[in-house]
Amino acid sequence: MDFDLSEDLTMIRDAAREYAEKWVAPGAAERDLTGVFPLEQFKKAGEYGFTGICVPEAYGGPALSNQALVLVLIEVNKACASTGVTLSVHNSLLTAPLLKFGTEAQKAKYLPRLATGELLGAYSLSEANSGSDAAALVCSARADGDDYVLDGTKLWVTSASHADLFIVFARTEKGLKKHQGITAFLVERGTPGFIVSKKEHKMGIRASSTCELVFENCRVPKANVLGEAGRGFPIGMDTLDGGRIGIASQAIGIAEASLAAAVKYAKERQAFGKPIAQFQAIQFKLAEMKARIEAATLMTLRAAWLKDLGRPHTSEAAQAKLLASRTANFAAREAVQIHGGAGYLEDFPVERYMRDARITEIYEGTTEIQKLVIARSVLEAK
Ligand SMILES: Cc1cc2nc3c(=O)[nH]c(=O)nc-3n(C[C@H](O)[C@H](O)[C@H](O)COP(=O)(O)OP(=O)(O)OC[C@H]3O[C@@H](n4cnc5c(N)ncnc54)[C@H](O)[C@@H]3O)c2cc1C
Repeated sequence: MDFDLSEDLTMIRDAAREYAEKWVAPGAAERDLTGVFPLEQFKKAGEYGFTGICVPEAYGGPALSNQALVLVLIEVNKACASTGVTLSVHNSLLTAPLLKFGTEAQKAKYLPRLATGELLGAYSLSEANSGSDAAALVCSARADGDDYVLDGTKLWVTSASHADLFIVFARTEKGLKKHQGITAFLVERGTPGFIVSKKEHKMGIRASSTCELVFENCRVPKANVLGEAGRGFPIGMDTLDGGRIGIASQAIGIAEASLAAAVKYAKERQAFGKPIAQFQAIQFKLAEMKARIEAATLMTLRAAWLKDLGRPHTSEAAQAKLLASRTANFAAREAVQIHGGAGYLEDFPVERYMRDARITEIYEGTTEIQKLVIARSVLEAK
């Protein structure tokens, strides 16, 4: 067992750190205030190879590992969680399933442009009455000639304001068990009958966009079915296993940024004649933050390592997300506490970290859903 990063992974981590510090951190607070989508940051990520990290060279990608993706996402999320989720969704929720389940024609058509960042990807599973209970979705698609005709409304689609390509899950057969008869479609922006509708106003990750999608008589060619018709639900769940590693990485990035800000402030801020870092009560907070971050990082890298080896990682990804998202919330909250009144102001970044951390316990499966996934694997283990 070797806990050192390889030379290659170290180089990737360092490149991601440079990208994040130079191109993402400047303006992160401003983008959070104005809600300006980090499109420029996404395009720049393309120049670094971060928009198609696991895409093979044959499709124009750098063919890196999921461990590399974790390291990149941690660095980006330290700087800006809105840019972080944009890259996470693009890599894990759109590009990865296209690579795994796509036809040769679909891969040849889209992967090269996704890998360079020319195209931005999004993933649309949730609806008004199907979040945790994703299989309850009602958006429908009926076969008609060479097309499917989509009708319905999807909710909560990350990056939808600017995305070019969407994976959309719709029900193609009724009267079956609810997780059966669902199909995954690749839908291009601009397809007639497809509208990106209302944009949500959020507590955190405010520069990321979260929108409703409306489909009205929207014709999508049968050639755009991802995987087998009627077998979309397993594709959706398999994709979320990878996505949860991405969100765990996001959470670690937010937690690390919180710790760094807390350490800096604790060394500078004086109370009772000395820096507050000298109070044991403050030191204990920093120590607990550090230990939890290390644990979450190891778990997340391990889940990515399993994915790289093609081994099952459903429970490990859920464990990583559960622990990392709680760590992010713990660390951000403690960082605000260490800042005292200053932590409550927009002048310091920790209030943004606290708002951003909150979402990591909600999307791509809530904390409660991660526990259900983990409990299932514990109870099924022989
Ligand atoms: C900012 C943002 C971005 C998002 N991006 C995307 C995206 O890109 N694509 C997409 O498809 N979706 C996206 N989502 C949707 C997100 O994945 C869902 O909000 C999430 O899965 C929870 O679903 P819900 O909101 O319907 O909550 P509900 O499912 O209604 O849950 C409400 C509460 O009940 C709990 N609960 C539900 N069922 C159980 C159970 N069986 N046992 C115990 N507790 C339970 C939940 O944990 C939660 O605490 C996004 C959401 C947000 C807020």
